[in-house]
Amino acid sequence: MNGTFCIAVVVPVYSKNNGRRNYSKKDICYYCEKTINSRISKHYLSVHTDRTLVQQVISADGEAERNDKLYQLQHMGNFKHNTKV
Ligand SMILES: [Zn+2]
Repeated sequence: MNGTFCIAVVVPVYSKNNGRRNYSKKDICYYCEKTINSRISKHYLSVHTDRTLVQQVISADGEAERNDKLYQLQHMGNFKHNTKV
């Protein structure tokens, strides 16, 4: 070992263009587990307004908080989906 750094073993960007992109555009709804192709926030706010977390989004204090809650929901939905499969 002479201290030479072995750099740039960058993981190649593989499996990106073979049609199996995981969660770049589609989101899974946390509640009904549907795949949402459009904006998931819109889905939550139109279909699941009776849910506690969506209520929190609606009553969020400011846009930052609102986005934060929406992000949480989005993440939860995808996570639920991933752990299930
Ligand atoms: Zn839904």
